[in-house]
Amino acid sequence: MTSLASALDDIRARADSAAVAAGRAPAEVQIMLATKTQPAGTVLEALRLGYTLIGENRVQELQSKAEELSAVPHEAHLIGPLQRNKVNHALRHASCIQSIDTAAIAEKIQRRLEATEATVEVFVQVNTSREDSKSGVAPEDAAALLGALEPFDRLRVRGLMTIGLPGSSPDDIRPSYRDLAALSSRLLTDGLLPPRAAELSMGMSGDFELAIEEGATMVRIGSSVFGVRPRP
Ligand SMILES: *Cc1c(COP(=O)(O)O)cnc(C)c1O
Repeated sequence: MTSLASALDDIRARADSAAVAAGRAPAEVQIMLATKTQPAGTVLEALRLGYTLIGENRVQELQSKAEELSAVPHEAHLIGPLQRNKVNHALRHASCIQSIDTAAIAEKIQRRLEATEATVEVFVQVNTSREDSKSGVAPEDAAALLGALEPFDRLRVRGLMTIGLPGSSPDDIRPSYRDLAALSSRLLTDGLLPPRAAELSMGMSGDFELAIEEGATMVRIGSSVFGVRPRP
């Protein structure tokens, strides 16, 4: 077995155990590979091993790897910020945008898709750690943003996404995940999130097990599969 294969199996096994320990079905938790900075060849190897859900932070990287990755059917999401002038390229290469945090960017996407009859899946990104520098809508503004998205019929909301405090210990990050889950259930109850939009994209290499404990349905894993990223 290659080291990539065993790293992937290890993550899947840990995610399964975390789900079972939380009284959840392992199948409720999808593993997304966060592939930023990884060469297309490495990502392709992971796709061939059956890990076909990937997330890229930059539209440029989605674009540059797309041709090589097209050899294996897969699902690519944008998990980093989307600039208005990159909407076209993002829609070409990603089936889901996880970083929707303003009505303006949603509207731009809607207008693009109206011209092509297509739809795109989205997550609303919530800034649960309340860091000024972080993208994401403030938790108290999420309801208003979802209301503003309602007329945009080309966007299919799947749920909420958060990043949480970077570099903090797992216990510091738990409130971010707990708050996102609580916010999601409130919005579902109030009908601002439709029943099909109950997904929670949260949890990374250092804390995905506790994210699963708090209700994550998609964890985004980079360094514990691919190794530590080279610093830019
Ligand atoms: C890089 C990244 C991840 C994965 O982080 P790791 O700690 O390497 O697992 C998850 N989500 C987002 C948005 C990222 O940018």
